[in-house]
Amino acid sequence: MAIRTIRTQGDEVLTKKSRPVKEMTPRLRELIADMLDTMYEANGVGLAAVQVGILRRIVTIDVGEGPIILVNPEIVFAEGEQTGEEGCLSVPGMSGQVTRPNHVKVKALDMDMNQVEYEGEELLARAFCHEIDHLDGKMYTDLVEGELHQVTYEDEEEEE
Ligand code: ZN
Repeated sequence: MAIRTIRTQGDEVLTKKSRPVKEMTPRLRELIADMLDTMYEANGVGLAAVQVGILRRIVTIDVGEGPIILVNPEIVFAEGEQTGEEGCLSVPGMSGQVTRPNHVKVKALDMDMNQVEYEGEELLARAFCHEIDHLDGKMYTDLVEGELHQVTYEDEEEEE
């Protein structure tokens, strides 16, 4: 396990579309372990593989309820609306207001390529949407209402 370098905005890789995982390999398992290490080390609640420079559809999330690993995730249901502060480990020190669905269901594969389904509200729903956007080369900064601003101490722990 190792900490990988988090790519920051301006790095072209972040604008690229990630490819689906067809087969779980030892190399991808190592990537997932490293993504968890990297996410926790950076105090993030989510990380997409593209943020460490790997264009594969893999996401790790932990909103304080334990790690969630999503391989080839898809949002299959979304309802409601929430507007709140959002940040990103690839845009360090900044945050902005983003509107997202308040309740989403996600279909994905786990590390053993078994089908899994997750349901999330509030921060977890926001994290699902934010991370899955990364897999399509989208950054939250394109969705920010008003100005991006410097993170205050209170929302520092919610970077994705
Ligand atoms: Zn992000």
